Amino acid sequence: MKNDGEEIVLTGLGVSHGIAAGPAYLVQIEHPQPPDAALEPEQTETEIARFDDAVRQAQRELAALKRKSTGLPDDAAEEIGLLLDAHMAMLSGSRLIRGVRARILRDQVNAESAIRREIDSIAGQFNRIKDAYIAARGEDVRNVGYRIIRILMNVPYLSLDDVPPGGIVLALEISPAETALLDPRRFAGIATVYGGPAGHTAVMARSLGLPAVLGLDRAALESLHHGTPSIVDGIGGKLVLNPSQATQRHYERRMQDLKADKAALDKLTRLPAVTTDGAEIVLRANLEIPREIDNLPACGADGIGLFRTEFMFMNRDTIPAEDEQFEILVEIVRAMKGAPVTFRTLDIGGDKLARALGAHLDASDNPALGLRAIRLSLKEPHLLEAQFRAIMRAGYFGPVRILLPMVTTAAEIEDARLILQKCHAALEKEKVPMAAQMPPLGAMIEIPAAALSADSLAAVSDFFALGTNDLIQYTVAIDRGNDQVAALYNPLNPAVLRLMEFSIQAGLRAGIPVSICGEMAADPKLTALLLGLGIREMSLGAASLPRIKQRIRSLALAHAESHAKYVMDQYDPDRIAQIVNSFKTQ
Ligand code: PEP
Ligand code: MG
Repeated sequence: MKNDGEEIVLTGLGVSHGIAAGPAYLVQIEHPQPPDAALEPEQTETEIARFDDAVRQAQRELAALKRKSTGLPDDAAEEIGLLLDAHMAMLSGSRLIRGVRARILRDQVNAESAIRREIDSIAGQFNRIKDAYIAARGEDVRNVGYRIIRILMNVPYLSLDDVPPGGIVLALEISPAETALLDPRRFAGIATVYGGPAGHTAVMARSLGLPAVLGLDRAALESLHHGTPSIVDGIGGKLVLNPSQATQRHYERRMQDLKADKAALDKLTRLPAVTTDGAEIVLRANLEIPREIDNLPACGADGIGLFRTEFMFMNRDTIPAEDEQFEILVEIVRAMKGAPVTFRTLDIGGDKLARALGAHLDASDNPALGLRAIRLSLKEPHLLEAQFRAIMRAGYFGPVRILLPMVTTAAEIEDARLILQKCHAALEKEKVPMAAQMPPLGAMIEIPAAALSADSLAAVSDFFALGTNDLIQYTVAIDRGNDQVAALYNPLNPAVLRLMEFSIQAGLRAGIPVSICGEMAADPKLTALLLGLGIREMSLGAASLPRIKQRIRSLALAHAESHAKYVMDQYDPDRIAQIVNSFKTQ
């Protein structure tokens, strides 16, 4: 595809309710693929000289970065300065540099290939030592190595920091951890090649209110120029490059409409989420990163139904200690001014990775089914203890609840409860201020086995939260973050709906609150079905909350119940979609 000024429309998956216009920048988040080439013996000296030139260029780049970093606030300048010094040290006489030179001579391969082999060997040795700090040093070696590779390959490096304000970030892939770094006040939108509608990158983009299109054609992105005028249509799933004047006018009108829509929704902030026949629904917010708390007053949430604590472990080299976690959690509890906050314990694994936990993470071929979430927390109870203690201490300042992710059996909840009781007793003994009552301990219902044994789980849980994002993924065996099979990721598959109905009924029979905190809660087309199935509490991204409140206020519970009954009598997903789409609120 040539990008010479003509309008190009690329289609992908629209994953957030917004449209943004701005210059697009292709950000290199992935490392470049270095070419492998064999050398003749007489070429090796020239190759070493080429490598040495690239190392000198890397030293100049790092020196320039260090000069730039002095303009940062003191703490940040010190932190980055230390990192750059460490990287600089790796460029002179280190094992990396010596190793690469030796490999060029011995293996008779090009410098790029020698660097890749050497960093794999060093990082592999570091990884064998199960220590997060050492694992992070392995990542440093990799970064330095790829800086040299990029120079050798003449691939310019553009990081998120280099994208000017108002720019649109284009990338092959943006991980959930990287998405968490995207400040919607600075970036207009995002567009990527990889990523599915329910992956955590999509969830984060929605939470941040950042227009996003994922699953675009790779070839199209690779031939982009930096600064190409672009429009991200996160509703229709389009990326328009070099939009014509007519297209620009069309999108300007749509952006005006969205603004008017938002103004109408903002008026609902103080009104209750109540159906036309008087059923009150509790609407809470999902939160990933503490700074999102600023959006909560505007959305009218009645507390936080899901705080994904794993994001506190991302984009850093060390595991946050109990005190640091407490400092973050207490800010959230205080900001909610008496409204309850549900902290979910560490749900790391799958597409959510944190290098600080490197030594603990599952590197198997199938991490979505591996050691993750509650399984990891029970295997490494020191992680769970620090979380429980921090949450209970934060509970001194307002009501808190604790939610366990990816529970499969009642025994996991019982084991976690024993640890919680032990932590409670220890805090009491230490006379540390904490929640007056032991916080309610709830279970995520997001694995089919948990849904099918919901009655036994309800007997040992204080509440349920339905995690439909994973429940769908594990029921229909479709990776939620994979754009290739996104069309098969269907919340309306009757198997999913039956598991949901079964667990909602089991929770209600046991008399415990049942909420839904998966993305199904944020789709207004599904609101009537969820209420009809018995849901009275929902937790969703702040950006979607007013729209759902509007939907609730326009429908009658009695009507929703007959709608749900009709849907649950069906077995064909297409027919169910038809019924759901044609539901009329009045
Ligand atoms: C879910 O699986 O539905 C959920 C809410 O948790 P997460 O999206 O963080 O996996
Ligand atoms: Mg989940």
